[in-house]
Amino acid sequence: MSKRKDIIIIGGGAAGFFAAINIAERHPKLSVAILERGKEGLQKVRISGGGRCNVTHAEFVPSELVKNYPRGEKELLGPFHTFMTGDTIAWFEERGVALKIEEDGRMFPESNTSQTIIDCFLQEAKKYNVEVLYNYVVKLINPKGNGFSVETSQGHLECDKLVVATGSNPKIWNLLKSLGHTIVPAVPSLFTFDINDKRIKDIPGVVAKDVEVKVLGTDLVSEGPLLVTHVGMSAPAILKLSAFGAIELAKRHYNFEIEVNFIKQDMEVCINTLKDLKHKLAKKQVVSFTQYGLPKRLWKQLVLASKIGEAQRWADINKEQLIELSKQLTASVFKVTGKSTFKEEFVTAGGVDLKDISFKTFESKIVSNLFFAGEVINVDAVTGGFNFQNAWTGAYIVSQSITK
Ligand SMILES: Cc1cc2nc3c(=O)[nH]c(=O)nc-3n(C[C@H](O)[C@H](O)[C@H](O)COP(=O)(O)OP(=O)(O)OC[C@H]3O[C@@H](n4cnc5c(N)ncnc54)[C@H](O)[C@@H]3O)c2cc1C
Repeated sequence: MSKRKDIIIIGGGAAGFFAAINIAERHPKLSVAILERGKEGLQKVRISGGGRCNVTHAEFVPSELVKNYPRGEKELLGPFHTFMTGDTIAWFEERGVALKIEEDGRMFPESNTSQTIIDCFLQEAKKYNVEVLYNYVVKLINPKGNGFSVETSQGHLECDKLVVATGSNPKIWNLLKSLGHTIVPAVPSLFTFDINDKRIKDIPGVVAKDVEVKVLGTDLVSEGPLLVTHVGMSAPAILKLSAFGAIELAKRHYNFEIEVNFIKQDMEVCINTLKDLKHKLAKKQVVSFTQYGLPKRLWKQLVLASKIGEAQRWADINKEQLIELSKQLTASVFKVTGKSTFKEEFVTAGGVDLKDISFKTFESKIVSNLFFAGEVINVDAVTGGFNFQNAWTGAYIVSQSITK
């Protein structure tokens, strides 16, 4: 095997394979090699989306798509005009992989298995003679002339252009730092909130369809479904806060308070509605007549938390109880004491500082002929297929820049 390649890609994950295939397809004469430290590549693709691989999201307006990126919103707008969700769908379809849209906009292979994506990548890599070198751990990157010398666990290789697609890997970040890049410290993004509270302790599995959640003492706020879990709260209303608040919540060591508005109404409006109900439902038990379309078990807990007895009727509740119930419905405060992993899916905020990258080419502004794609850069997204879309977009633009 020649130790000299035109292009070396470090990392055989989503971004690495996508870049390699697109480079090799556009320019068959270039020698392209992927160096992957594992004995197999694409491991995150395999486990992604619960084994189904949530490839992208059915959002076709770049200015809307970028809103899903707490880090990268501004920088990805241009790149999405070059390659975004529609292009991803077409790319896979042209290679025989049909994608389907689920109700919430997430897109998966029709086969419902990530193996389809892996098979597609491996076949395409083979078809275009991409050399995939497994068990190659990259240890050093040295600029040499206009190119690079790369030290690996299996000796050294050289190349003209280098693509770093190593995901969230602290060792590679250190190497990039020694080459002059700023590395934004990594913190977890996408996690659920640990909450030990009587109101939700016995009702895991309950979903409030559309709530508003604020992190008290910050301007973090989100809306969407909320799921009560065995250890706290999850679902989009919480996960969005975990992503957009990744840095702020890490600073607070995951100890903070949230205020949940279960009915997305002002407290005053709610009080008036409850006063009407007091007359209309005078003889009925408060606990038994669920309001606002809330799940029965959640309504019961909020009523009991308002110190309204289980047998109490609407006619018998006093002013304080009525105000307390409206507070529980519109401004319930919960204490968060930690975080948990969301369905084993985790994403890291942090990485190569976006200031160091040209988003027209995904090339380093510090070292020429060095390119980045995927999670190695300081971009991350909420759950829903957006993290992979960042990998596809960056990798595609790298392939264009390199083969121009
Ligand atoms: C359980 C789970 C489920 C997920 N599900 C989804 C989903 O459904 N949809 C979605 O959009 N996102 C999902 N994500 C996030 C998504 O997987 C990542 O954003 C994406 O994989 C990033 O791609 P990447 O190529 O940048 O990095 P990676 O996929 O992490 O690939 C990096 C590669 O580089 C290799 N590498 C690292 N260091 C070296 C080295 N020194 N030498 C050689 N090789 C090296 C690694 O072994 C790895 O193969 C999920 C994440 C997890 C953990």
